[in-house]
Amino acid sequence: MHYKLSDYAEDIKKRLKQFMKEFILPNEKKYEEQLNETNTRWTVPPIMEELKNEAKKQDLWNLFITKRYGGELSLVEYAQLCEIMGQSLLAPEVFNCSAPDTGNMEVLMEFGTSEQKKQWLDPLLEGKIRSCFSMTEPSVASSDATNIQGEMYRDGDEYVINARKWWSTGALYPNCKVAIVMVKSDTKAEKHRQQSMILVPLDTPGVEIKRFLPVFGYDDAPHGHAEIHYNNVRVPASNLIGEEGDGFKIAQARLGGGRIHHCMRAIGASERAVHLLIERASQRVAFGTKLADKAVIREAIAESRIEIEQGRQLVYLAAEKIDDEGAKAARKLIAMAKISAPRVALNVIDRAIQVFGGAGVSDDVPLAALWAYARTLRIVDGPDQVHLKDIAKLELRENMPMVTITK
Ligand SMILES: Cc1cc2nc3c(=O)[nH]c(=O)nc-3n(C[C@H](O)[C@H](O)[C@H](O)COP(=O)(O)OP(=O)(O)OC[C@H]3O[C@@H](n4cnc5c(N)ncnc54)[C@H](O)[C@@H]3O)c2cc1C
Repeated sequence: MHYKLSDYAEDIKKRLKQFMKEFILPNEKKYEEQLNETNTRWTVPPIMEELKNEAKKQDLWNLFITKRYGGELSLVEYAQLCEIMGQSLLAPEVFNCSAPDTGNMEVLMEFGTSEQKKQWLDPLLEGKIRSCFSMTEPSVASSDATNIQGEMYRDGDEYVINARKWWSTGALYPNCKVAIVMVKSDTKAEKHRQQSMILVPLDTPGVEIKRFLPVFGYDDAPHGHAEIHYNNVRVPASNLIGEEGDGFKIAQARLGGGRIHHCMRAIGASERAVHLLIERASQRVAFGTKLADKAVIREAIAESRIEIEQGRQLVYLAAEKIDDEGAKAARKLIAMAKISAPRVALNVIDRAIQVFGGAGVSDDVPLAALWAYARTLRIVDGPDQVHLKDIAKLELRENMPMVTITK
């Protein structure tokens, strides 16, 4: 196991770090200010487009396209880049590497027809449009995807879709043009063949954005999270992704990659937090000495560093296994990283908030927003308990002979 970068990846990493320092971190406040200047926060601040143009100019665009999808980076190399982007909530979009677009683009790259690629993948890759993913439903436990109730049926050359979805991240973005919707196409089929995925342009009659859902009070504008009702929505049959009944399989493929991206960003958020903590502790004086000179604060720094390195190693191990053997073979490591990385982030960010005192829970520093983001990661793309269940199942299966011998 070695995580040495190729010269190509090393060069990108160096330039990405410089970009973060020069363009992203100094513009975080400006982005929020521009968002607040508008009548509605559901508009794209001009600085975002400026930053995207600069990223394109510097060839720091679509870095998520790894070798598996025809790119030049391995996933373990991308892990080191994605982590850097994860230091700022603003950054992934600037490099066209943000969820849910990356997952949707990967689905289209892997399962899309040439017509679907031309219509939706190309503009997504260029950053001209954005997309959302509608799987979760308010009325059923959606961590078990076989529960979903939304349905579609074939009517001539069209499919008719009826579903109530929520937590469709990105749907409120002004330029979000298309949703990948997962619904049941055959309720009588085998449990994992009942679901299909279909592309639904958001301007199709019957698509109703009911409301946005805040996260701990954050609206997450301008992309947001929406409750969407699909009421007798008709789309051409050619919008089906793969075959009827492929939905579950595509969801598994989509989430495998998506989960590890979340983990990489969570490690980046942890790095940002520990740097902020150290910066603050090195300046702030209480009861006669700098915070950084107090044993409890040093302990907080040391604990954070240990946890970050442990969490990072799991992310790299999972990424390396995906590179070598594919997402299915890596599912235990992915599940382990998916539990570990958000935990690390929450612990480290919480310590940083504590060291900042009142400022830590304000909007003056990004810690509160990072914490809210990291907390959602224990739920999105499968709650912790589901991953723990899967890890235990695999562990029991793999170690069963040993258990028998010791009886
Ligand atoms: C900020 C945010 C963004 C999101 N973005 C998207 C998106 O873009 N598209 C989309 O489709 N969805 C999205 N989601 C939804 C997310 O993926 C779901 O919330 C998640 O899969 C859990 O489903 P659920 O909310 O229905 O929880 P449920 O399935 O009802 O589970 C609730 C709880 O039950 C417990 N539980 C579940 N299964 C087990 C088990 N086997 N053993 C023990 N306990 C268990 C867990 O504690 C779990 O948290 C997003 C959610 C959030 C918060």
